[in-house]
Amino acid sequence: MKYELFCESCELAFPGESGLYRCPNCHSTLGVVYTDSEIKFNEYHSFPGIFRYFSKLPFSSKKHLISLGEGCTPVTLLKKDADGTEIWIKNETMNPTGTYKDRPACVSVSKAKELGANGVVVASDGNAAPAVAAYAAKGNLSSIVLMPKDTPEMRYIQASAYGAKIVLIDGNINDCLNLAGEIASKIGFHNCCTSNVFNPYQIEGSKTIAFEIFEQMRCLPDWIAVPIGGGSFLSAVVKGFLELKLGGRIKKIPRILAVQAFNCAPFVEAFFTDGVVREFKEYKKTIAITIALPYPPDGVMALKYLKESQGYAIAVTEEEIMEAVLCLSSQYGVLAEPSGAASFAGMTKALLKGIIQPGEVSLAIITGTGLKTIEVFREGINHHIIMCSNDVDSVLRNIN
Ligand SMILES: *Cc1c(COP(=O)(O)O)cnc(C)c1O
Repeated sequence: MKYELFCESCELAFPGESGLYRCPNCHSTLGVVYTDSEIKFNEYHSFPGIFRYFSKLPFSSKKHLISLGEGCTPVTLLKKDADGTEIWIKNETMNPTGTYKDRPACVSVSKAKELGANGVVVASDGNAAPAVAAYAAKGNLSSIVLMPKDTPEMRYIQASAYGAKIVLIDGNINDCLNLAGEIASKIGFHNCCTSNVFNPYQIEGSKTIAFEIFEQMRCLPDWIAVPIGGGSFLSAVVKGFLELKLGGRIKKIPRILAVQAFNCAPFVEAFFTDGVVREFKEYKKTIAITIALPYPPDGVMALKYLKESQGYAIAVTEEEIMEAVLCLSSQYGVLAEPSGAASFAGMTKALLKGIIQPGEVSLAIITGTGLKTIEVFREGINHHIIMCSNDVDSVLRNIN
């Protein structure tokens, strides 16, 4: 047996082939545990994308894997100071649908296919919807997306282009998340929401980012900055490094810097108070929409993983996020959405505050592309636009 599904509440293990989504005994969430701790790299050359880490993915056969060539995104050095301080990024905007969400979607939709699902359901007002829809299209599965009814059109066009049926619900994102599971079970579809509460497999896709960072950097960074919304992604990053440690590949895992927007920071609040993740009461609108979850479903798990990495949490203002977005695009050629650049904003702030020490190496994961939120770049565009008459002299005069 390659892997088991383990319930942390009642400490029971179930065979991987059971295809369970929740503990049948106590209904808690399940986690995937591999019987062999060794990680094989490059074992599966004939398959693109994250399935090159097949030994650490929850599949026993290669028959139903669906890939769009996700992962293998660039790790780039942005800045190196004389005192040894280094700033790196991992550019997840390069994934097939423009965000890291392709990693979890790749695994959850492949799993649904393997288990013979009629289709897949996802509740999302952000990037999980297009990712799941794209993999469903490639895997010849139907897909249904549940979104709150006030979601702007721009946020569902991409998913609908991949063929998803978009259902606008008269409720908020938490209502959609709760509906997804029930609807899925009634029609033989599988729930591909990117939260461990609903799907224990998807986190396995996200964790491959740790394996890539290990392979791409000769020396692991001291810190990795991660934007956190629901908490699944941060947990995945740490899980990946813990598996590398268990497999004897590394001695120490990087410290994680969890980053949220001040306007919606339930996780940062829990970190600095009693460690209990509660619904965020002072919620205000933020440009970092895709990480603005007032109640993070995987917050408890993420907090445990953050502590295990000896990490830290930080909140950033709207101005700091916007500054990070513009710095990445205009100085480094990376177009990020505000949520995707929040990690960079948090890292910059942590360096200024001395949380990250001079001489340390840090890497920010840029989780999503700015092409989907192109309107945030409108502000400030005016200094770059020149009206000019149709002759050479006039153009030369104006561009100098
Ligand atoms: C989903 C998402 C995140 C956060 O992931 P969680 O698992 O919800 O914490 C961060 N950045 C982007 C761009 C996302 O789409």
